[in-house]
Amino acid sequence: MTNYKELGLVNTREMFKRAVAGGYAIPAFNFNTLEQMQAIIQAAVETKSPVIMQVSKGARNYANGTILRYMAQGAVEYAKELGCEHPEIVLHLDHGDTFELCKDCIDNGFSSVMIDGSSLPYEENIALTKKVVDYAHQYDVTVEAELGVLAGVEDEVAAEESHYTKPEEVIDFSTRSGCDSLAISIGTSHGAYKFKPEQCTRDPKTGKLVPPPLAFDVLHEIEKKLPGFPIVLHGSSSVPQDEVDTINHFGGNLPDAVGIPEEQLREASKSAVCKINIDSDSRLAMTAAIRKHFAEHPDHFDPRQYLKPARENMKKMYIHKIVDVLGSDGKLAQC
Ligand SMILES: [Zn+2]
Repeated sequence: MTNYKELGLVNTREMFKRAVAGGYAIPAFNFNTLEQMQAIIQAAVETKSPVIMQVSKGARNYANGTILRYMAQGAVEYAKELGCEHPEIVLHLDHGDTFELCKDCIDNGFSSVMIDGSSLPYEENIALTKKVVDYAHQYDVTVEAELGVLAGVEDEVAAEESHYTKPEEVIDFSTRSGCDSLAISIGTSHGAYKFKPEQCTRDPKTGKLVPPPLAFDVLHEIEKKLPGFPIVLHGSSSVPQDEVDTINHFGGNLPDAVGIPEEQLREASKSAVCKINIDSDSRLAMTAAIRKHFAEHPDHFDPRQYLKPARENMKKMYIHKIVDVLGSDGKLAQC
């Protein structure tokens, strides 16, 4: 048993309280490589932002859960080495699907877990979430639950259709499950193809797809039911068109990739939404930099030659999200 506090990590409780009160959101960036971890920490330190580093089941399968745990421990020490005396770093399990997986993470240094019972019948979702909460809270680990279904694919999580969260269920769900935060469905979606072209309109000038707006009415209803309760948005990459264009220009093929416009995420950050999940944008930033590098330097074969610009490009993207979209810069309790 390794408690996260021994590793210098923090849970989400205090940072969410401050984020809801302060009208900003904490970035939750997925990671599974060294370069992503370095870029996330450099960005968080430079902007003095709290940060959630999250690990999906797919990331555990790819990189090994134990290694990722030690990387998060290393991330805390790295942040201090970069000059941040009191970093606020959460190690979070993204889309835990069983009690056993959540327990394994809690026992091995995670400070926050998500139990995603959103595909289960309502009562079963409550029962599973409560079981995880009862275990997690013994160790002061915070728990994110999900109500409503997002469309799209993220690692092993796939759903054909989305179902908005029903505002009339949120009080009962959060009270009976005891969860610390709630992921809701208001039209965000996993992956780099969040919407089918037929769900979008086209900008007549650029020919680019314009996605349907998020259901802010549903969000505001939920906020009214649960004043001050931390709300989470999954599937919130913006799929920056310049990265997509770079990828396509240098031999890639990502037609009609589309994400959530940043203005809408900025607006959501000012509400009770206090955690915004971003994964695909990091993948795109990394791939765009590597494709460009290989096109310009066909003789390079040392991974450091192409992973360095990839890391730089991801860092730039993380800083942009923190400062220009979520507003979590300068929000550490102590610098
Ligand atoms: Zn998700």
